[in-house]
Amino acid sequence: MFSEELEKINWEETTKAIYSKTDADVRRALGKSRCDVDDFMALLSPAAEPYLETMAQLSRKYTLERFGKTMSMFIPLYITNSCTNSCVYCGFHISNPMKRTILTEEEIVNEYKAIKKLAPFENLLLVTGENPAKAGVPYIARALDLAKPYFSNLKIEVMPLDVEEYEELTHHGLNGVICFQETYHKANYNIYHPRGMKSKFDWRVNGFDRMGMAGVHSIGMGVLIGLEKDWRTDITMMAYHLRYLQKRYWKTKYSVNFPRMRPSENGGFQPNVIMNDKQLAQVTFAMRIFDHDVDISYSTREPAKIRDHMATLGVTTMSAESKTEPGGYYSYPQTLEQFHVSDERTAKEIAAVLKSLGREPVWKDWDESFDHVKAV
Ligand code: SF4
Repeated sequence: MFSEELEKINWEETTKAIYSKTDADVRRALGKSRCDVDDFMALLSPAAEPYLETMAQLSRKYTLERFGKTMSMFIPLYITNSCTNSCVYCGFHISNPMKRTILTEEEIVNEYKAIKKLAPFENLLLVTGENPAKAGVPYIARALDLAKPYFSNLKIEVMPLDVEEYEELTHHGLNGVICFQETYHKANYNIYHPRGMKSKFDWRVNGFDRMGMAGVHSIGMGVLIGLEKDWRTDITMMAYHLRYLQKRYWKTKYSVNFPRMRPSENGGFQPNVIMNDKQLAQVTFAMRIFDHDVDISYSTREPAKIRDHMATLGVTTMSAESKTEPGGYYSYPQTLEQFHVSDERTAKEIAAVLKSLGREPVWKDWDESFDHVKAV
């Protein structure tokens, strides 16, 4: 399990190693066709800042070679904001005396129909808070069943599950799981997640192993930028994690995301650090040079300007026209959002811009594995 591997990697020493990288280390990494985590640290380090343009060109080249001129489009749907956790940065935390919504089957279907009117989305991400008693695996399974007539690629972002539960959901059409570790700094993790199942660091970090063991086709990872001051170290830990998973669960596809926290309107939490646009670009280029095959995803958390700019330089997956409140597309617009999106353009507007940039928006991923799943 990855928790045991992580014990062997010292946070402070990793931070020190990143900040002691030199110009020569960066040039060596740029000259390699296959980088290891040590090279990634060099590309992520302040020493690589003067090489941003070179990194951008390399990132563009590798992305074109592997993904062509495409952008995979997806849309998230929050089906509940009911949550038993206490993440200090989230407005959905259990102590917030807000009204909770768990969409009924009829409401879920109404959301699906409303989404299909926005654009020809085929990639759906179902999102929940974490309340296994009220919106657990049977509820998620039903939402997946109901989605099959409308969408061909179904992912979830829900509480970490056990192997059997992931397996069960694959029988309901589940194709991918996204789970953000939030941070790999174990001691600080407990400060941000003081209560509930999410406070169990090892359970969460080992969830990725369980996804792999269950044969989940696609696994998405991410750290929440804004929690740890040393975001370079956090992302390096994710790179170690990615390599670990790729070795063990080599049939699985991986994606990464670097969500940047903004001053929270709902949870009242102020980020400990702000990653600027240039740093986000550097991280994205470094990840692409480190791993030519990993999907790099930008959500509507990011402003339109940077999403458009990065669309040809390394990003391969984007959400569009997202609502972050349950039932936000049809049943309950204007309720409490989990976070406010920055890119508020419609999916059609985003698609038009991508086309003008020479990128083809792809609404459906043609996954062979998905041919075996029958619609209900
Ligand atoms: S981040 Fe997720 S788990 Fe944490 S309080 Fe918000 S909805 Fe719940």
